[in-house]
Amino acid sequence: MLVIMKNDATESQVDAVIREIEHLGYRGLPVPGAQRTAVCIVGNQHEVDDSRLLSLEGVKETIRVTKPYKLVSRETHPQPTVITVGPVTIGSGQPVIMAGPCAVESEEQTLAIARIVKRHGAQVFRGGAFKPRSSPYTFQGLGEEGLRILKKVREETGLPVVTEATDHDNIGMVEEYADIIQIGARNMQNYSLLRRAGLCTKPILLKRGFAATIEELLMSAEYIASEGNPNVILCERGIRTFSDNTRNTLDLSAIPSIKEVSHLPVIVDPSHAAGRREYVIALSRGAIAVGADGLLVEVHHDPAHALSDGRQSLYPDQFGQLMRDIKAMSRLSEREK
Ligand code: PEP
Ligand code: MN
Repeated sequence: MLVIMKNDATESQVDAVIREIEHLGYRGLPVPGAQRTAVCIVGNQHEVDDSRLLSLEGVKETIRVTKPYKLVSRETHPQPTVITVGPVTIGSGQPVIMAGPCAVESEEQTLAIARIVKRHGAQVFRGGAFKPRSSPYTFQGLGEEGLRILKKVREETGLPVVTEATDHDNIGMVEEYADIIQIGARNMQNYSLLRRAGLCTKPILLKRGFAATIEELLMSAEYIASEGNPNVILCERGIRTFSDNTRNTLDLSAIPSIKEVSHLPVIVDPSHAAGRREYVIALSRGAIAVGADGLLVEVHHDPAHALSDGRQSLYPDQFGQLMRDIKAMSRLSEREK
């Protein structure tokens, strides 16, 4: 349930509403908005008796939230969430392109790729320092050394960096270095990690699990938001289906579906969906066409020798082509407005 405050409600009236909600045995989380202030009731299993709340000073009305996720629902927050990371805004209408290698392999490799993607217009640099790999015998990432290299990338290029935290042991360290903390597909339902991400002050990039429904993805985002971190960027990265022509099947319908029910920004990772660089540009165009707020793309200057995901990493020239295509699409949609 949402308790909607009157436009002129004071802070102490909002506090009194929160105290009354706590008295009823639930939690009350304020949801400030441009149009109105609301308090979202979480933790109730059944319908809440709102009679006491409605009699409090400053309360305008109560609204039932019909979805199981509350804070990330559009019912609670009708305006789209815009997330600011340094000079970049995600969810503001212009697609944000995040690009870089799958993994940070060395300082030389990472800086070389960062210069390339920056030159072509990427706004955020990606690269994993902790890699969740299917095989324990493959490259697992450089760990803290990789994070230090990412810090150098930010210092040299000015690009904010996104990198993955794979568990409780490394999320604190990742938070110190990263501008955006990625929670990968394999960890989408690692609820204790999600709660820990909710305590972070940096935005979280939450990837959809290979077998997760949209509702499950949004419930995972709710774990993060309910701990106090409202800055969650969702990412569609392909799901497992019977279709075996690509590594995963990119669910483009997820983007309008999520936008209908949630205010969070949604980006698309065409690289892990495709598994092959040949399809990445086409899928990227599709993603932008259906309304994605950005892309997360793997790029490598020497994919044949990449330590992970070389097969799906774009060559620098292909990334340049992708950026030109996306810019042309943005110009087209501006013209149509
Ligand atoms: C990645 O972005 O490098 C990654 C491991 O992605 P996912 O969690 O989607 O597999
Ligand atoms: Mn990868």
